Amino acid sequence: MNKIFLYNTLSRVKEEFVPIKDGEVGLYTCGPTVYNFAHIGNLRTYLFEDLLKRTLEYNGLNVKHVMNITDVGHLTGDQDMGEDKMEKGAATEGRSAWDIASYYTAAFKEDLAALNIMAPNTWCRATDNIPEQISMIETLEKKGFTYKTSDGIYFDTSKVKNYNKLSHLNLDELKEGARVEKNEEKKNPTDFSLWKFSPKNEQRQMEWTSPWGVGFPGWHIECSAMSLKFLGKQLDIHCGGIDHVNIHHTNEIAQSEAATGEKFFNYWVHGAFLNIAGGKKMAKSEGNFLTLQNAFVAKNIDPLAYRLAVLSVHYRKPMEYNDEIILNTEKSLEHMRHQVADLGALKGEINMEFKEHFVDALNDDLNSAQALAVAQELLKSDLSKEDKLATILDFDRVLGLSLKQDIPAHVIELAEQRMVARRAKDFAESDKLRDEIAEMGFVVKDNGDSYVLMNK
Ligand code: AMP
Ligand code: ZN
Repeated sequence: MNKIFLYNTLSRVKEEFVPIKDGEVGLYTCGPTVYNFAHIGNLRTYLFEDLLKRTLEYNGLNVKHVMNITDVGHLTGDQDMGEDKMEKGAATEGRSAWDIASYYTAAFKEDLAALNIMAPNTWCRATDNIPEQISMIETLEKKGFTYKTSDGIYFDTSKVKNYNKLSHLNLDELKEGARVEKNEEKKNPTDFSLWKFSPKNEQRQMEWTSPWGVGFPGWHIECSAMSLKFLGKQLDIHCGGIDHVNIHHTNEIAQSEAATGEKFFNYWVHGAFLNIAGGKKMAKSEGNFLTLQNAFVAKNIDPLAYRLAVLSVHYRKPMEYNDEIILNTEKSLEHMRHQVADLGALKGEINMEFKEHFVDALNDDLNSAQALAVAQELLKSDLSKEDKLATILDFDRVLGLSLKQDIPAHVIELAEQRMVARRAKDFAESDKLRDEIAEMGFVVKDNGDSYVLMNK
């Protein structure tokens, strides 16, 4: 097997990726807060995570992917002040917080599908896992990491060693950042809420009883409780956007390691921002954001042009968004699809030399721009049409650009599921999926650890 290298925010160097359990990877990606549509900046992060997941699978690893849906407890300020984004969104739209959550969750899943982002194996909602969060806070309380203020139960960050091991910031800088919104009752500016009490004279739409009174969980605790619940000991890779490093992920690590006494995730991988002109971050709070719907679907631009644009920039480099870039990538995507359409029917073999260059690029900290260059080279090469086609469609398992337009995305998804079943030696499932694919008019042919998919 080829070695995979990933830049780990914990160590600030590219490290060889070695999973805890041979052949399997536990992957947790922080999901959306569902009080509004995802913007294309958010979607850049989910695209990079999809590239990571597809790269791991392309290398023959079975990925157990968990993504949460934050439907409670994410406050408008970072420092446990401000309103709950969900309740605020509900008030603005005149709908219940539960309606808002299910509406924007469905919209989010549609965006993922439009971008060929593979769904996680497990979706988990914060509100479906309240007892697990309460139980973790109880453990922290028993171990002496918590204290109570007038508005909630807080985590005492001075009780953990190396609170800054992910952020690498010195504590004074972290404290400075945390001071923006002042909460006088906190013992340390970096302390954060685990449980917030409902306001005394007001009933919240989302609230639960707990050993400390009626209220709701703080935002960070959901990711700790749910990753431990759904991944167990397979805490391999945890991802998110770069903005999660200093607070959200730092706090997840502090509370999880305090509760379990064990290391919480071996690799922390973060994607850079999508910025608008002038280097300003695209953000919901800035009101400068574009959605997939208004920037692509409504303008009849294939959302996969955005996927290609994102793949053209390394995930750790800031990406600037403007209309011209998208128009150019739309043309490039069309061009690639024409080139693939000219290759005719599928009967060739994957070219191992090109495949090696492709996988080398991906395994070097997900160098998708280089992987795309290999794909372009392949299309321009003098390889036979048949082998070119087999090879480019194999690459498209990672690129996810639907390069051969006559194979629908749901058939490709079934072929991917079959691949996972075959690797797990679940031959009954793999045969069942092959039959389903055949019923849709396609044949899937095994090719080493890969496959090719063709019209019957
Ligand atoms: P949220 O729904 O605000 O929790 O954000 C969802 C994900 O999008 C998180 O992983 C954020 O780090 C990420 N994110 C937020 N803004 C941007 C941006 N402008 N570019 C890339 N990722 C972002
Ligand atoms: Zn999270």
